[in-house]
Amino acid sequence: MKNSTIRSFSSTSFWFDNLDPPPSSFPSLEGDHSYDVVVIGGGFTGLSTAIALRERNIRVAVVEKGLAGSGASGRNSGHVGCSLGMLPLLTYKNFGEERTQQLSRVVNKAVDNVAYMIEQGGVDCDYNQCGNIMAAVSRGEENSKIEKYAALFEKMGIENELLDERALQRKGIPECVVQAAHWKKGGVINPAKYARCLTKIALEKGVDLFENSEVESVVPGKKVLIKTGKGRVSCHHCVLATNAYSGELGFLKQKIIPMSVSVFVSDPLTPEQRSRLDWYGGEGITTAHMALENIRLTADNRVLIGSKSARLGFGNSQPRPNDSLTFSKLNTVFRDRLPELNDVNIDVGWTGRVAISSDGVPSIGTLSKHNNIYYGVGYSGHGIAMASNAGNVIAQLICQEDLEDAGILVDRKSLPVPPEPFRWLVGRSVMAAMRRIDKKTDRHAQLERQARM
Ligand SMILES: Cc1cc2nc3c(=O)[nH]c(=O)nc-3n(C[C@H](O)[C@H](O)[C@H](O)COP(=O)(O)OP(=O)(O)OC[C@H]3O[C@@H](n4cnc5c(N)ncnc54)[C@H](O)[C@@H]3O)c2cc1C
Repeated sequence: MKNSTIRSFSSTSFWFDNLDPPPSSFPSLEGDHSYDVVVIGGGFTGLSTAIALRERNIRVAVVEKGLAGSGASGRNSGHVGCSLGMLPLLTYKNFGEERTQQLSRVVNKAVDNVAYMIEQGGVDCDYNQCGNIMAAVSRGEENSKIEKYAALFEKMGIENELLDERALQRKGIPECVVQAAHWKKGGVINPAKYARCLTKIALEKGVDLFENSEVESVVPGKKVLIKTGKGRVSCHHCVLATNAYSGELGFLKQKIIPMSVSVFVSDPLTPEQRSRLDWYGGEGITTAHMALENIRLTADNRVLIGSKSARLGFGNSQPRPNDSLTFSKLNTVFRDRLPELNDVNIDVGWTGRVAISSDGVPSIGTLSKHNNIYYGVGYSGHGIAMASNAGNVIAQLICQEDLEDAGILVDRKSLPVPPEPFRWLVGRSVMAAMRRIDKKTDRHAQLERQARM
C-alpha cells in the first residue's frame, strides 16, 4: 500500500508537540528593563550565547517571540555531524588548506560540545552517537563525489570511513545505499529535547527568559533599545540570534537566504516492520544529492524523511508552510529508498526555516556604528552543533577574548546576497539546475534497482 496521506501537520514539529511534560511558557516582556546583554531569539544560538555569558557573570536576558526552541532548533531532522559548510569542496576552494583545517577544528569541537551540554544539563535527548553516513544511491558520479568528500574530510582531520557494499551489508544499512562515507562523530538526536536541555542550563545559570515576546524594533545606539508590543529593554550589547528570521527585523539580508524545509515522520514501526530493516546502528543517512535527502530512525522507531525540496520565498515572505507538492516529493523519497516499508503510513509533517549563507559556512560578527550588535547566522541546514557552539564565540567577541580557531567564522567577507528580485531569480535558477542533476541521479538509481531485481 503506497499511502502518501499525511495524517496531520504540526505548526511546530512532532518533536516539540511530544515534549513530556509539555513546555510551560515563561512570562512575556512587559514594562521597562535594562540588561548588560539582550539576546533576541531562544534557539540554539540564543540559548548557547546566554549560557556562555552567564558563565562570565554577565546579566543577560533572552527575548523570544514564541517558546524557546520553537524555531528551527526544535524542528530540525536531528542529524548532528561535522560539516565543512553546505558544499565542503567549495569551502576548501574558497578557504584554502590552512583555513579549512582551522574550520575543521571548530567543527569537531562544536560536535563534542553537544554531548558536553547534554551531560551538563542532565536531560535525556535520545542522542544516539552512531555518526552519520553520506550515501550514494546510484553508482558513477555519486560514488566519486563520496570518495572526494571522504578524502577531503580525512585530510582535514574529520574521522570517516568509506563503506563499500560488503561493509554496508555488515552494518545492515538500507539497500538503497550503494556506497557511503561514515562520519563517526555525532549521530542523531531529538532536537526539541536538546533545546529543552539548553533552556534548563540557561535558567539554572540565571538567564532571564521572556517568551511570547516578539521584538518589533531594535534601535541601535551607544545603548541598544529593544521594543516589543508591551515592553522595552535597553542594553549595552544586543545579540541577534534570529537566524532565518533576521530579515523581518531588517537585519542581515545581505548575509543569508531564508528557505523553508519540510520533514515528516512515519507511524512507529511494529517489531515486524523494524525487522525488515537491519540498520543495526541506526546511523543517520544523508544522500549525496545536490538537494540532499535525509533519512533516520527516531528513538521510538519511526522513519523520518526530510529536506529534498527546500523552498524560497520572495523578500521577507516565506512560502506556505506545509504544501502538498513538497510532501509528495518526500513521500517519493520514502517509498523509493525504503520499499521494504511500503505498508508504513506517514504520521506528522512540519516545516521550518533555515538560513543559507552565500558560501554555505556560518557567519558570526558585529554590526552597527557602535559595534554592539552581534549575530550568529547562516548555518545552512547544519546548525545543531554549530549554532549551539556559536554562543561561546559570540560571548568571546563581546568580552574581547581570544577567539582562537573560531576567528575563522567571524566578520568574514563573503559574496553578498543580491537584493530582490535578483535573489529570487538567481535562487530559483540554481535550485532548478540542482533538481535537474538530482533527477538524473534518481533515474540511474531506479534503473540500477530494476537491474538488481
Ligand atoms: C526542517 C529542518 C531540518 C533541519 N535539519 C538539520 C539537521 O538534521 N542537522 C543540523 O545540524 N541542522 C539542521 N537544521 C538547521 C538547524 O535547525 C538550525 O541551523 C539551527 O537550529 C539554528 O538555530 P538558531 O538558534 O540560530 O535559529 P532558530 O532555532 O530558528 O532560532 C531563532 C529564534 O528566534 C526567534 N525569533 C525570530 N524573530 C524574533 C523576533 N522578532 N523577536 C523575538 N524572537 C524572534 C524564533 O522564534 C526562533 O525561536 C534543520 C532546520 C530545519 C528547519
